[in-house]
Amino acid sequence: MRDVIIIGGGPAGLAAALTLGRAHRDVLLLDADEGRNATADAVHNLFGHDGTPPAELRRLAAEQVKPYESVELRRTPVPGAHRTPAGTFAAGDERARRLLLATGLKDDLPAIAGLPGLWGRSAFHCPYCHGHEVTGTRVSVIGAGPDRVRLALHLTRFTSGLTLSTHGAPLAPDARDLLARHGVPVRCEPITRLEGRSGRLDQIVYESGAPAPADAVFVKTTLAQRSPLAAGLGCAAFPDATVRVDEFCRTSVPGVYAAGDMARRATVPMPFAAVIAAAASGTIAAGALDQDLLSEDFALPAPFTP
Ligand SMILES: Cc1cc2nc3c(=O)[nH]c(=O)nc-3n(C[C@H](O)[C@H](O)[C@H](O)COP(=O)(O)OP(=O)(O)OC[C@H]3O[C@@H](n4cnc5c(N)ncnc54)[C@H](O)[C@@H]3O)c2cc1C
Repeated sequence: MRDVIIIGGGPAGLAAALTLGRAHRDVLLLDADEGRNATADAVHNLFGHDGTPPAELRRLAAEQVKPYESVELRRTPVPGAHRTPAGTFAAGDERARRLLLATGLKDDLPAIAGLPGLWGRSAFHCPYCHGHEVTGTRVSVIGAGPDRVRLALHLTRFTSGLTLSTHGAPLAPDARDLLARHGVPVRCEPITRLEGRSGRLDQIVYESGAPAPADAVFVKTTLAQRSPLAAGLGCAAFPDATVRVDEFCRTSVPGVYAAGDMARRATVPMPFAAVIAAAASGTIAAGALDQDLLSEDFALPAPFTP
């Protein structure tokens, strides 16, 4: 019987494995190696590692876990996990006293031809990850909601080559005026396709009118859990698909913890998706898990009251 099975080896799972390895806990980390930012050239806004490619960051983190011999890393997808009648956890043939889910979120992209091939290279969602990278280039924010207008205004800091493309949706007159006052033109025709090569956008082709040369687009994605494991275990979730956890990353199911993009506290209004935040929550979850097990090992009072 292991102490902990961690499912998911992105920033959250790897950070947790490091903490638990340093705590000499017997840990199995199972990872399918399909991180949310896998297609991006580099991870930005990350203290100490700004500009490191995502795969390289994972390689470095896995390398640093290796010396901790009580941790085993296996590259494999986990189809299912369940709580046994004894209150332990099973994933395939493996058993553990506690389970940490760090399986991340996935982005369902808007249905625009050509977008999937550009995702993470010249199609983005987050100004903190890629705002600086589009400095001085031709950028289109796609969509017409208030959050899209806000994002377009945010990006005026980086470039004057900005357009809002509503993709056929109507734009409120006050939003149009606000954008006009700040020099942001609007195109309302539906987009036929995004054209580019090797992940680099060349132009936006509209149903009517001239195509617009462009270097990058920002789109709004729909978030979903990458894995159905949390739902299968019965973990309570928010309508935005994130799993509900407390300050110590405990889910509603005793013994099941969740960290990284996939989980948030009720006091945090939205998933704050960043590598450093995911890693931090993995570290917090691991500390809480270790203390929880310590209480069990020595029949001590629970370390944290709910
Ligand atoms: C295009 C893009 C670019 C981004 N750029 C940045 C950036 O520059 N800077 C930044 O801070 N953030 C960036 N982010 C956000 C960042 O990717 C996430 O915040 C971060 O990856 C979350 O880490 P995580 O460990 O929670 O999940 P993930 O990194 O998604 O890792 C989850 C892991 O769990 C595994 N997994 C899932 N289900 C199973 C299963 N059933 N069995 C086994 N393994 C499983 C997956 O294969 C994956 O390896 C970007 C996001 C996107 C979409």
